[in-house]
Amino acid sequence: MAGLEDLYREIILDHYRTPRNRGELEPPAVSVEGHNPLCGDEIRVYLDVQDGKVTDVKFSGSGCSISQSSASMMTNAIKGKSVEDVKAIVRKFKHMMTVEEDETPLDENVKLGDLEALQGVVKFPVRIKCATLSWNTLVDALALTEK
Ligand code: ZN
Repeated sequence: MAGLEDLYREIILDHYRTPRNRGELEPPAVSVEGHNPLCGDEIRVYLDVQDGKVTDVKFSGSGCSISQSSASMMTNAIKGKSVEDVKAIVRKFKHMMTVEEDETPLDENVKLGDLEALQGVVKFPVRIKCATLSWNTLVDALALTEK
């Protein structure tokens, strides 16, 4: 198991050092800011949704390696996906993080890929908010695009 934990640590550090989709998007893309006061993490998610599809997503902000790498992996996982698929990924991730309240069965076809590297965070409850910050911010941004 130590080998797997090392691999997970590598994936998290890689996304922290070389974040994917870091930057900003101009309107009509929506943007929402999220804070995690427990740790001081700040994330702004920029989301461009067209015809029910996430055509582009970027993030900015600063904070601990868990918060920043989770945001980087999240943008990778949802870019180009339909809003419906994105919501399924959000649910699956939150379920892994033990913060999903919806108890209907999960779609087994939804794959988390690199995001599985964050499952070890569950052992440190105070860090779960670091990992889920960008995701909660994404949910707020998605809601804006549906208005
Ligand atoms: Zn944090």
